Amino acid sequence: MKSVVYTKAGQVGIEEIKRPSIQEADDVIIRVVRACVCGSDLWSYRNPDIKEGHKNSGHEAIGIVEEIGEAITTVKPGDFVIAPFTHGCGQCDACRSGFDGSCDRHIGNNFSGGVQAEYIRFHFANWALVKIPRQPSDYTEGMLKSLLTLADVMPTGYHAARVAHVKPGDKVVVIGDGAVGQCAVIAAKMRGASQIVLMSRHEDRQKMALESGATAVVAERGAEGIAKVREILGGGADAALECVGTEAAVEQALGVLHNGGRLGFVGVPHYNNRVLGSTFAQNLSVAGGAASATTYDKQFLLKAVLDGDINPGRVFTSSYKLKDIDQAYKDMDERKTIKSMIVMD
Ligand SMILES: [Zn+2]
Ligand SMILES: [Zn+2]
Repeated sequence: MKSVVYTKAGQVGIEEIKRPSIQEADDVIIRVVRACVCGSDLWSYRNPDIKEGHKNSGHEAIGIVEEIGEAITTVKPGDFVIAPFTHGCGQCDACRSGFDGSCDRHIGNNFSGGVQAEYIRFHFANWALVKIPRQPSDYTEGMLKSLLTLADVMPTGYHAARVAHVKPGDKVVVIGDGAVGQCAVIAAKMRGASQIVLMSRHEDRQKMALESGATAVVAERGAEGIAKVREILGGGADAALECVGTEAAVEQALGVLHNGGRLGFVGVPHYNNRVLGSTFAQNLSVAGGAASATTYDKQFLLKAVLDGDINPGRVFTSSYKLKDIDQAYKDMDERKTIKSMIVMD
C-alpha cells in the first residue's frame, strides 16, 4: 500500500509499504477515506535534519473499518469512523474526567502517526474511535470535510475554549488564524462568548473567522496588537486561546488578558518552558494540552456537525489526491491554503 514519507526538508514523497495488520486485541485496521496535513506536520516538513524515508506524522483521518481485534465490541467491519489522534482508553482517571488527550495509559507518545496512507492500524480503538452514522457516499464533500476536522482541529480548538473556561458573555481573543484558530473561534461562539477577537493578518482568514462568529480582527502584533485588542474590548480579555505554539503567541495571549484572566493553550509548544512565576502578578489561570478529541466528538461535536450547527470543514480550502501530497504540504507551508485535505481513491 502507499504511504507518505518525508524525503528531505521541504519535500515529501510516497513509498510502497506493507499493509498494517492487527497486533493487539484492541486494534482496528482502517481504510482511509480522507486524511489531511496538519500545521504540526509542517514542523517535520521544514526540519533540515529530517531523515529520508521518515514516516509521515499525519494523524487525522476518517475511514472505513476493515478488520477488528478480538477485544473490539464497539465497531465492526464496514463501519464509517473518525480516527481521533488522541487514542484515549476511556477507562482511566484522565479519560473519565474528559482528558483523553492525556490518557493515563499513554506511554511516551501514543498519538496517531503515519495516517497519510491507504490503511492505518489504530490502537486503543474500542473506546477511542468515533462511529459516524451511514457511509461516506451518503454525505456531501462539505460534510466529509467537517467530519474530518473532528479527528483533530475542531476538538483542539474547542479544547482551548474549554480549558480557558469560556462562558456566556465572555470577551475572548484567539491567537492564530490557521485551522485550529478558526475552530477556536467556532468553539468560543458555541460556548456563548459575546465578543471574539481574532489576531490575523490574512484577509481570507479574517473573513472566514468573521463568518464563524468573530466580532473583530486585529492585524497588529506585539504591544501594538495588545493595545488594539484592549481598545476594541474596552479593557482586557476574559480568556485568550493560543493556537500557534510559539513564544510570541503565548506572550500575545498573556498580554491581552485582564488580571485574573484565563489562558487556554493548544499550540504544540515550540519554545522553552516559560517560568510559571511570570503570571503571578496578573493572577492568571493557565491550562492547555492535547485535546479531548474522542470525548468532545461523542458528547457534542459530531452532533453539532451532523445537525449543521457548525461547519468547521471550511478550513479545508484545497483538496489533493495522495499522489499530489508534496503539493498539499507546499501550498500549506506557503499559506496558499489554510488546510490541505487528501482524498483517497
Ligand atoms: Zn494535527
Ligand atoms: Zn485513558
